[in-house]
Amino acid sequence: MNKLLRINLQDQTTVHNEVGEDYARFGGRSLIAQILQREVTATADPLGPENKLIICPGLFADTAAPCSGRISVGGKSPLTGTIKEANAGGTLAKKMAALDLHGLVLEGQPQAGAWTVLVVTPAGVEFLPAQRYLGLNNYQLCDELRQELGADISIASIGLAGERGYHNASIQFTDPEGRPSRAAARGGLGALMGSKGVKAIIFKDVPRASWGYADRAKFMAANQAYGKAVMAHPFSGQGLPALGTAVLVNITNEMGILPTHNFSQGRWEHAEETSGERIAELQSQRGGNMSHICQQGCIIRCSQVYNDKDGNYLTSGFEYETIGLFGANCGIRDIDVIARLDRLCDDLGVDTMDTGCALGVCMEAGLIPFGDAEGALRLAEEMTEGTELGRIIGYGTEAAGRHLNVKRIPTVKGQSMAAYDPRGLKGTGVTYATSPMGADHTAGCTVGDQNLVGNRKEGQVDLSRNLQVLMAVFDSLGMCIFSGFCCEDPEALGKLIEMLEAKFGGSWDVNRLMGLGVQTLLTEKQFNTAAGFTSKDDRLPQFMYDEVLASHDTVFDLSDEELAQALEFGLPGA
Ligand code: SF4
Repeated sequence: MNKLLRINLQDQTTVHNEVGEDYARFGGRSLIAQILQREVTATADPLGPENKLIICPGLFADTAAPCSGRISVGGKSPLTGTIKEANAGGTLAKKMAALDLHGLVLEGQPQAGAWTVLVVTPAGVEFLPAQRYLGLNNYQLCDELRQELGADISIASIGLAGERGYHNASIQFTDPEGRPSRAAARGGLGALMGSKGVKAIIFKDVPRASWGYADRAKFMAANQAYGKAVMAHPFSGQGLPALGTAVLVNITNEMGILPTHNFSQGRWEHAEETSGERIAELQSQRGGNMSHICQQGCIIRCSQVYNDKDGNYLTSGFEYETIGLFGANCGIRDIDVIARLDRLCDDLGVDTMDTGCALGVCMEAGLIPFGDAEGALRLAEEMTEGTELGRIIGYGTEAAGRHLNVKRIPTVKGQSMAAYDPRGLKGTGVTYATSPMGADHTAGCTVGDQNLVGNRKEGQVDLSRNLQVLMAVFDSLGMCIFSGFCCEDPEALGKLIEMLEAKFGGSWDVNRLMGLGVQTLLTEKQFNTAAGFTSKDDRLPQFMYDEVLASHDTVFDLSDEELAQALEFGLPGA
């Protein structure tokens, strides 16, 4: 992938250049960090003309590596004010790679009220007037675009939330069936896309590509061995294909880290009713699919197609974190209601996690009681209707909590936690506190670690640091993080390194590979420092230090000094 496509929305011009030396060795999240650091002033208004929306496939997008079609999206976050990268599955990354595109950068800002649909083809970029698509949410929008432009297009789009600038707005990507079910959900990047006046980005008429390798035979041999290692791992080879990420509901409940009633408890007596096992039972009766792929080339198949009571498609990409935060965290026992909330969020284009936590604080404030499923649906629908309360919820958990004068707001740097209570899983708490992205489990979730005791603080800073580096690597390769669990086995990691050598040539080792992750994290941290963030921002909300989590009889007890070590790498100038 050799080209960078820049699209200026102010004057509707494009520049399609060879990618320079300074960017060529980066991809996905690492490329986003480099572009933002060099090209965007850290103190810029996230929704102003100076910010850029950057969309990048990973370094392995033009290979046959398993699960290598993740698409990374980044910019300065409207939600957190920090640097932000969020990634998703879907079909767009491979289409970009087939057009030799290393990245797509949206720049500038049109006049207020000017909206565009961008159509990227091998011949260039078309700017279609988008007025007639305004007001549509993602499912209807993608249906109409596919009818007009063909079923084989790939779409990145925003719903009403992105149009209205909700700080919780996502960018949705179409899956292999053309459904906008895959979300780059975190950090309000949908609002950033809306600030550029872009309703949808479409890739059309993209030819099939044959990928180039420095040593094709070596790549294929290493790739095959790596794929076997992915499928030999119990989580990626058995748990995920059988039950999707919902396999974690019963596991985290057993572990006592399933956030319940706005992070008040770590166990919930009704967890089983929302579990992966329960979903599998329902979907076997309703003709759903527990083993769906969100992108071509996935060998794990953790996505699901969730059908409603009548056997009709309701949602897919129905993840553990969504279920945990709408389920136990809001006390909602009806899995069909949780699936409807997931669909509503994908359709409107908002982050399910931040919305689940926002509803939790609304319940804590007494707007509706915990467990009120219909009340939760009503509040979520207010986001779509755009009522005053709906807009406040659409601005995220922190905004909703502050507006309602709730003291227990489960956020870091303005972004909600995921469905892992950090008091019982302290390594993930370290990640929430110190990740440059705000509370983000995908930056380094420690739930699979077998070596440490989750509720003890010893070793958790090192564990979080190692995982944050590894996740930054996978986010830069464009590989789904679920294909990375096997890297705990040095032999599998060695195969991944062989794949890098066979793709790019030259000499690769663990240090070079992990160096990519370290450099990415340091660049992200530098951006945040320039934006005004300090170590005082790298901590959990106070109630996590004050309130004992009964399932573990402990609080979060890592000191600020201990947390400050998490992204220290002992490098000169670091
Ligand atoms: S493992 Fe799941 S999330 Fe990852 S690429 Fe496959 S279907 Fe998508």
